[in-house]
Amino acid sequence: MRSYDIATIEGDGIGPEVCRAAVTVLTEACGTSLLRFANFDGGALHYQRSGAVLPEDTFAACNSMHAMLHGAAGLPGVTYPDGTEVGNDLHLQLRFKLDLFANVRPIRLYAGVQSPLAGFQPGQIDYVIVRENTEGLYASRGAGVNLRGEVVTDQLVITRKGTERVAKFSFDLARRRQGAPRDGKRRVTVCDKANILRSYAFFRAVCDEVAAGYADVEIDYAYADAITVHMLKKPDFYDVIVAENMFGDIISDLGAGTVGGLGIAASAELGERHGLFQGAHGSAPDIAGQNLASPVATVLSGALMLRWLGEQHGDAALLSGADRVEQAVEAVLAEGRVVPRDLGGQASCTDMTEAICRRLR
Ligand code: ATP
Ligand code: MG
Repeated sequence: MRSYDIATIEGDGIGPEVCRAAVTVLTEACGTSLLRFANFDGGALHYQRSGAVLPEDTFAACNSMHAMLHGAAGLPGVTYPDGTEVGNDLHLQLRFKLDLFANVRPIRLYAGVQSPLAGFQPGQIDYVIVRENTEGLYASRGAGVNLRGEVVTDQLVITRKGTERVAKFSFDLARRRQGAPRDGKRRVTVCDKANILRSYAFFRAVCDEVAAGYADVEIDYAYADAITVHMLKKPDFYDVIVAENMFGDIISDLGAGTVGGLGIAASAELGERHGLFQGAHGSAPDIAGQNLASPVATVLSGALMLRWLGEQHGDAALLSGADRVEQAVEAVLAEGRVVPRDLGGQASCTDMTEAICRRLR
């Protein structure tokens, strides 16, 4: 049997708790010989201790191992000498160095989870947001221009290459994914403000060009403001939504809110060869270190990791592991006996982990 090396970075805040929980669940699902986890330093707390957010050996491991599974990074108040926040620079650096251009965030309503949207049943909300992860309005992060404290600008950068690859990724995903919108059509919705800014008009035009190569997938358009209403009124219409970096950031938190919040929202950041998996939430310092965090988002991100690795390497053991982890989470949530606090229950991080592992056994 092959084995796969996974670089974990537990990171800051609730990162260590949720990352360890995911490692426990994945090991339960796949055994100890399929996945080999090794933990590395990185993040804001590590910067405070050592002066390095992303130490060299950590980067080397992330670059060379089969996948990355992370907790969370960033702690309020930890700053660089110039006063700017360290934040989740760990992931920003990895994103750019490894060119992780597609940030994939599934939005799926599980049985047992109360959606704030009335009238939608589990299975009816099941779509994926693909956030462009390397350019757009966040391209000039840290490089904006401040003119004598009077005028401040940031640059929005849309490139043909950056848009083409994220659009292709989204159409390919629409072709092969399982969940279907209510009308059964495979669909990619392009989220932009093409009516206002020429950069977004270009984003849309390049998506149109890519769409021409996918006759079996419908292309659909939504302005970023309008989609926030559509996502509440007709979430069952969506299949894959592709968005520029900042719009993707915003609508993926909104999407998470419609299916139970950040504690349940998984995320994958993918490049040509690399994959970084972690919950869509941040380090949640308000609840860190108290065994209060929900590990569900990180566990489901771990399932995304198994599926991605399984597809990359054509390995059925990984694909079946992905299915079993998702089914175990689904069963625990549906049963409603062990419920994490952010979903209205009393279960601790370790209670949830144990309940998911029991299901797997
Ligand atoms: P970032 O800037 O990294 O996106 P953020 O400021 O958006 O971070 P998060 O850390 O994502 O903040 O969390 C916001 C709040 O949501 C937290 O303070 C916490 O109360 C809640 N939360 C986030 N993740 C979880 C989790 N896994 N389990 C329970 N509650 C969570
Ligand atoms: Mg956030």
